[in-house]
Amino acid sequence: MNAIEPIAKLANQFSRLPGVGGKTALRYAYRVVEMSDADAEDFVAAVRDVKENVAYCGVCGNFTEKDRNPCAICAGRDHGIVCVVKEPKDVLALEKVRDYGGVYHVLHGTISPLDGRGPDDIRIKELVRRVGGGEVREVIMATNPDVEGEATAFYIARLLKPLGVKVTRIAQGISMGSDIEYADEVTLSRALEDRREI
Ligand SMILES: [Zn+2]
Repeated sequence: MNAIEPIAKLANQFSRLPGVGGKTALRYAYRVVEMSDADAEDFVAAVRDVKENVAYCGVCGNFTEKDRNPCAICAGRDHGIVCVVKEPKDVLALEKVRDYGGVYHVLHGTISPLDGRGPDDIRIKELVRRVGGGEVREVIMATNPDVEGEATAFYIARLLKPLGVKVTRIAQGISMGSDIEYADEVTLSRALEDRREI
């Protein structure tokens, strides 16, 4: 027997989230049905809030609150060192490394010809413009150590070097194919420290 329509519809929404299969989606939907009205209202309000109040930082491209642009990281850090990452989640991971005092540049993707994603589809132009401003001394490529992450890092290094900036790549402390997002603080700290010029 299938769930009644309103529950099936909600489950269908949950199943659009990453890692949520049909069964889990249904379990979430039933849980919402059993919530108090106040809890359900809070849940809906939180979803609305991220859509209304989250924006991209005009400098680094990370998520920020609409009325706080540039973001908190860009507002108070050394703009001479820029760490380039694939996604906002990677900034969170790298921020666990407490001795990093630079800023970030979030690409929102990697170059992936197989998925039809070229250099113009991610925030490379913005990075080139930023480096062209003259304040940046070093760009650390911290894309994931997988095929796309490597290709993207080297593509960007080739573009930036003529601008006279030092371009480095985080060390392979993070094993090939694994994500920055899941690396622990010690591993990330060492990967940053042992970065090499490319
Ligand atoms: Zn920012």
